[in-house]
Amino acid sequence: MKEASKDGRSAARRPDTRVVTAGRDPAAYYGFVNPPVYHASTVLYPSAEDYLAHRAPYQYGRRGTPTTEALELALQELEGPQCAGVALLPSGLAAISSALLSVLHAGDHALVTDSAYGPTRSYCDQILTRLGVATTYYDPLIGAAITGLFRPNTRVVYLESPGSLSFEMQDVAGIAAAAHAKGALVLMDNTWATPLYFRALENGVDLSIQAGTKYIGGHADVMLGTVSANGATAASLKNMVGLSGLCVGPDDVYLGLRGLRTLAVRLDRHYRSGLAVARWLEQRPEVLRLLHPALESHPGHAVWKRDCTGACGLFSVVLKPVPQQAVYAFLDALELFGIGASWGGYESLAIPFDCTGARTATRWHSGGPTVRFHIGLEAVDDLLADLERGFAALAAAAQA
Ligand SMILES: *Cc1c(COP(=O)(O)O)cnc(C)c1O
Repeated sequence: MKEASKDGRSAARRPDTRVVTAGRDPAAYYGFVNPPVYHASTVLYPSAEDYLAHRAPYQYGRRGTPTTEALELALQELEGPQCAGVALLPSGLAAISSALLSVLHAGDHALVTDSAYGPTRSYCDQILTRLGVATTYYDPLIGAAITGLFRPNTRVVYLESPGSLSFEMQDVAGIAAAAHAKGALVLMDNTWATPLYFRALENGVDLSIQAGTKYIGGHADVMLGTVSANGATAASLKNMVGLSGLCVGPDDVYLGLRGLRTLAVRLDRHYRSGLAVARWLEQRPEVLRLLHPALESHPGHAVWKRDCTGACGLFSVVLKPVPQQAVYAFLDALELFGIGASWGGYESLAIPFDCTGARTATRWHSGGPTVRFHIGLEAVDDLLADLERGFAALAAAAQA
């Protein structure tokens, strides 16, 4: 099997270049720019002896093909020199559960941010509990003070920064240093920033998770998860994923690879358009405040500026109190913003949400109804006109 380029050339290149060059080997495919989509289970060996000695570049479809390897190596090069291996999973949630299972044992304790993606919480509460792993949720803003929450059996600290509904920015390096001092491993959901805008492994994260469904895929047409491991965790990750029989279909892997090539240019547009729409919303009389870390007004702005080189198109807004029906009228009047789960595709989305029932370590006080936006690749002017239409409907409904 091939290895990620170790000649140092790749690491020296800018991330925008690396998403284009990483994991490619046209000479291996008659010069074609992209690798073929290997639909494969059986691999034939030259002889019985070779078969018994596993002497073949690829052993079995589930264990990897040139297609899966191309995406793994591309992501590994993108993560940088700390990355010792990448695993592909059939969804972001499968990446989260596999990363957790790869390092946890019965009797262990996990510290998980209170701002974590809802299904991550459900997995900890319903599955990890059954396997004898206890979870304590912690305030995402706790920083290095997390030291006080460790137990002798704390094995994992799990972060998600920013939270994908509430957008608290976590002090990743501070929390990671505290975790490592206690002998714990650090897992992070880095879907929001992607490796392009936040260098998770360089900031002390041992397993960096992405819902590839979002920006890597980028077109709302694939379910995919990725876990990037450093030297401390790569072997156990590969072991867990391999022994569990988890693999991703070749067409979905190919869509991930195809999406990755334009990740830098798409994210740049999501970043600029998202910030423009957020600044416009921040001036609206209907709006109480924005939850967007790249805005100067955000409480996590200094951390964002220290840690991130950009922002994606996902943020939330707190509206001034109005009846819930007026919020529904606002959302239903939007034409360019679809109402639906997920994000990271080319299209804009808007959903109502409420974190009140989803917290145990902290209290959620938004001060008004909350809406999460994903800003897609449409022209900003058209999106603003659509939002104007929404606010007109909100005003009409609030008066009714
Ligand atoms: C969507 C999402 C996931 C889960 O990804 P799926 O591919 O939908 O399973 C995990 N974390 C975050 C932050 C997400 O937004």
